[in-house]
Amino acid sequence: MTTQAFLIKYGEIAIKGKNRYVFEDALVSQLNHALKPLGQKFDIIKQQGRIFVKPQEECDEDEVKDALSKVFGVVGFSPCYMTEDEGFDKLAEEIIDYMKRTYGDEPHTFKVDARRARKNYPLQSMEINANMGEKILEAMPNMKVDVHNPEIMLHIEIREQISYYSVDYPGPGGMPVGTAGKAMLLLSGGIDSPVAGWMMAKRGVVLEAVYFHAPPYTSERAKQKVIDLAKKVAKYAGPIKLHIVNFTDVQLKIYEDCPHEELTIIMRRYMMRIAEYFAVEDGCLGLITGESVGQVASQTMQSLNATNAVCKLPVYRPLVAFDKQDIVEISYKIDTYETSILPYEDCCTIFVAKHPVTKPKLEIIEKSEAKLEGSIEALVKTAIETREVMIVKGE
Ligand code: ATP
Ligand code: MG
Repeated sequence: MTTQAFLIKYGEIAIKGKNRYVFEDALVSQLNHALKPLGQKFDIIKQQGRIFVKPQEECDEDEVKDALSKVFGVVGFSPCYMTEDEGFDKLAEEIIDYMKRTYGDEPHTFKVDARRARKNYPLQSMEINANMGEKILEAMPNMKVDVHNPEIMLHIEIREQISYYSVDYPGPGGMPVGTAGKAMLLLSGGIDSPVAGWMMAKRGVVLEAVYFHAPPYTSERAKQKVIDLAKKVAKYAGPIKLHIVNFTDVQLKIYEDCPHEELTIIMRRYMMRIAEYFAVEDGCLGLITGESVGQVASQTMQSLNATNAVCKLPVYRPLVAFDKQDIVEISYKIDTYETSILPYEDCCTIFVAKHPVTKPKLEIIEKSEAKLEGSIEALVKTAIETREVMIVKGE
């Protein structure tokens, strides 16, 4: 019997020595995650440095391709067929049938690339290449062999079962989510922070996220937009625990007591403190922001220094040296762009000063913040205690 399957190729993680099984297991678990929404059962089989995804019944190949193309750690994948060994002639018949189905009678060049992992197979790899090539040439006049630069590379792998495939699709690369610890993403409704989270997830990091809103100055729609962005990122990163913090009273207090040109920096420092509180509580090993040097006043080196100073955990800024256009391109690719540009108000833009400081001095910011002492702590505590938590899944 021949069954349809998908061969998963994983590059970087295959070279991790003893840790290899950890990475493979994480990849298998992420594959399961990605395939679950498809509503049918798949067997995921680890076999001698290969992972096969096998649908238990016939599946929609496009849906599976879409799901696999979002699993970090997958370098590429190929729809393949797996069959029992019933002799070479039977295999040749089947492969010719596959070649006809896949390539019709258009002219093509091809090459056979056999791998004999099961050494008791009666033909050696080179013999399989030559004999199969000949059979295909006899049966398909539209095919020509080109051993140097073939359009079609027909792979045949002889193991307990025999698998064959010839079409490759790229995966997203990176490392399987779950192999690198957890970090807390400061997720706003903008273009940058979803991309920053995606990039860290691509390195295997599990994401949690925190969003600060300021009702009634910011609307329910602005909040929904952030949830929608988290959903898009979760398609790649897996489920994201999202903390939604009501930041209004903290912001109003800062607005009342601090110089307005320092508002953004001081607000940002309080965001980092609260984000770090949740991060520590949940065992995250770092914070993630979408900051990029020089993008706006609050992202000069001086501003980043002032913001950074309140954090004990490392702050990961994967976009720090990216141009906006490069960030935009990634946001298109991961399908967050259209949501990010919806024009809803952001808590930072509402209380923003006309002329924010661009080169804040840490001592001066600290002095301004000292004015908040004694009254802001209770507001921060309430903000922490009243946060809303939801688990956002990819859709
Ligand atoms: P983004 O496109 O991610 O909103 P931005 O270019 O608008 O970034 P800022 O508004 O200066 O930049 O924010 C810098 C970073 O601070 C954001 O990338 C995000 O990580 C964090 N941040 C800003 N506002 C919020 C918010 N309301 N909730 C959570 N994090 C925020
Ligand atoms: Mg923003």
